[in-house]
Amino acid sequence: MSTRATTIALIVAAGRGRRASAHGVGPKQYVRLGERSVLAHALQAFLQHAGIDHVVVAIHADDAAAYQTAVAEYAAHPKLSPPVVGGATRQQSVLAGLEACVALTPARVLIHDAARPFVATAVIDRVLAALGVETAAIAALPLADTLKRADADGRTIETIARDGLWRAQTPQGFRFEAILAAHRDAAAIRRFDFTDDAAVAEWQGIPVALVTGSATNVKLTTPEDLAMAEVLMAEVSMAAPLLDIRTGQGFDVHRFTEGDHVWLCGVRVPHTHGVEAHSDGDVGLHALTDALLGAIADGDIGQHFKNTDPRWRGAASDQFLADAVRRVTAAGGRITNVDVTVLCEAPKISPHRDAMRARMAEILKLDVSRVALKATTTEQLGFAGRREGLAAMALATVVMA
Ligand code: MG
Repeated sequence: MSTRATTIALIVAAGRGRRASAHGVGPKQYVRLGERSVLAHALQAFLQHAGIDHVVVAIHADDAAAYQTAVAEYAAHPKLSPPVVGGATRQQSVLAGLEACVALTPARVLIHDAARPFVATAVIDRVLAALGVETAAIAALPLADTLKRADADGRTIETIARDGLWRAQTPQGFRFEAILAAHRDAAAIRRFDFTDDAAVAEWQGIPVALVTGSATNVKLTTPEDLAMAEVLMAEVSMAAPLLDIRTGQGFDVHRFTEGDHVWLCGVRVPHTHGVEAHSDGDVGLHALTDALLGAIADGDIGQHFKNTDPRWRGAASDQFLADAVRRVTAAGGRITNVDVTVLCEAPKISPHRDAMRARMAEILKLDVSRVALKATTTEQLGFAGRREGLAAMALATVVMA
């Protein structure tokens, strides 16, 4: 068992969300945001954080069913404790949550609003790091807007200098005994008007350190906030777009005929025969060309280079492959690797393998490490086995922009 001091995350989810529910959306922590509830987003951030040992959620007495539904996916999570029923005010809910944690003998507690679903791991990291030396540390951001004080008619009375002004966020981290004592003292004199836990700590004279929060760590309060959160969620998922990876395959065969060499994978190989073909009959490059065309669904080599066209009589096949490379690029694709297999009893491929890979890499404008070439006989079976001809298969992978 670890001797490391226990750290608790207390998620405060007992609010009734009056401002949002006035518009008919109910407590905002239970509203669905993307794939899960607002509360579940916040919960996930702490459950998955290695520095957090237990997570306790303070809920409203009326919300037991809503809570079970909202966190169903984490119901069996070993870090998640049973929910604690909160009190009439946020402050009383926090105290109820802290009291429920006493048995866990925690050294630290991070108190977080359930209505802040976008809390980042880095922000939790910063609060935890500061708690290594501080009694209290909270996430906060310096104020960017100019502050106005207004009268009851909505007219400005004064402009307030914003120097030194920060917006407090959560999580707010504390040495457990210190914040528990502060909340108990406030409750003892029935002071329940503190708007955050740092204010309770400050009231007790505990120094509170500020660590940098995050602009996206917003508290969802109004229906407008929820609408903005939907946009934010969409942006987060847009940031990791679906990778569009295509593969294509090609196959080609040429019959042996009289001659003293064959072209194979862009290299002239001396042989007892040549191949019958309109072009140079390079099965390796033909299969590879079709694999690239297949990856972008752009027809096949016979469609782009008709074997009745005199221009391609005896043509070097590297131009077919180069054309397919151009088509892939024009379609917004990037070739990531190719894999060619030559099937024949002879000629032997191994003495030429390096030269063939280098030549194909050159035409493909790829590093040679992304160009594979394999060869096999067919155990003297079939046309290749009877040395009537040779064949090649190819695969190509293309990533679309
Ligand atoms: Mg061919």
